[in-house]
Amino acid sequence: MNNMNELVALGEKNVMNTYSRFPVALEKGDGAYVWDINGKKYVDFVAGIAVNALGHNHPKLVKTISEQVTKLIHVSNLYYTAPQIELASLLTKYTDFDKVFFCNSGAEANESALKLCRKYADMKGKPGAEIITMLKSFHGRTYGAITATGQEKYQKGLTPLLPDIFHVPFNDISALESKMSEKTCGVFIEVIQGEGGVIPADFEYLKKVRELCDKYDALLIFDEVQTGVGRTGTLYAYQQTGVVPDAISSAKGLAGGVPIGALLATDKAAAAFKPGDHASTFGGNSLATSAGVTVIKEIMENGVLENVKKQGDYLTEKLNELKAKHSSIVDVRGLGLMKGIELDTPAAPIVSSCIEKGLLLVGAGEKVIRFVPPLIIEKEQIDEAISILDSVL
Ligand SMILES: *Cc1c(COP(=O)(O)O)cnc(C)c1O
Repeated sequence: MNNMNELVALGEKNVMNTYSRFPVALEKGDGAYVWDINGKKYVDFVAGIAVNALGHNHPKLVKTISEQVTKLIHVSNLYYTAPQIELASLLTKYTDFDKVFFCNSGAEANESALKLCRKYADMKGKPGAEIITMLKSFHGRTYGAITATGQEKYQKGLTPLLPDIFHVPFNDISALESKMSEKTCGVFIEVIQGEGGVIPADFEYLKKVRELCDKYDALLIFDEVQTGVGRTGTLYAYQQTGVVPDAISSAKGLAGGVPIGALLATDKAAAAFKPGDHASTFGGNSLATSAGVTVIKEIMENGVLENVKKQGDYLTEKLNELKAKHSSIVDVRGLGLMKGIELDTPAAPIVSSCIEKGLLLVGAGEKVIRFVPPLIIEKEQIDEAISILDSVL
């Protein structure tokens, strides 16, 4: 038995059985590459599912984290700390939002948004506190977030869920309009549905959603957990839509792999939270927020955003070439470095074969393969990935 098999067996024995994993044990990474414990190299187009924004072993991120642990890892939100305030200031500087709440994951950021909507309804004396989200959406695994998630497969066996959260078809303005009323206090949308299959929202639709939310004084929340932090070519995807929501949830790439979540809100929405209304022990701790500062500075001030646009265009070009060659690819879509191809066959066997040949990919829904590489990916690495995928197809 080699190391890999032993480790996999030990994992099966001791780790709770909630994931269906590939039989690969990864050990280290550098840039857009990772290595397994047998020394086999992979080009990483998963990046921890859109998390490792600066890739692996990024010198500046390593330096920031190493230095920060010698000062403070964590104190408490009973006190002010510079990294937390610096990250909040960068996020408000580069977006339309005024205030940031820090937590530790995407689900928690959405949980914060759900609470904010209901607190907003309470503050405004609205006649109800209904929240509307989209079918095929994904918002996380906590009870509120899983109720908001518009996919039955994730909710099976978990009922009763939270009351007064409803789902309507995505990109369908009349469906939303017929469900909205004075009782609505929040609408949740992903600018590109990630887990649901890399499905972009129509920008004209988003404008009409904004109008409906204004009409009924409901908060418009964009779940940017996956689309945020430079992933689509702007710091947040909403910045390309012509629509400013009342709040966005952020997580995944925000601290380059250190757990973090954030809710960014306008003053109008943030006013619904008063001291004591919401909290998180770990939220905004020095380790995570110092990492976040480095990630945001690299993206905004050191050319990473430009790389996303350039390599995103190149990836689209290459995927379209594959589509012209392989009839099994029926669609190429997405923005920046969040791309998907839809196949006419299940994605899982193709993903497995790519892993065997040294390319990490992740599915999104049954027939879609997702491409969410580190934002520092280079042309040669895209070529490498495309050539492996080409040979597998
Ligand atoms: C990943 C994801 C979440 C959940 O984030 P966790 O950190 O796993 O809780 C929520 N919303 C979207 C759009 C996501 O992609």
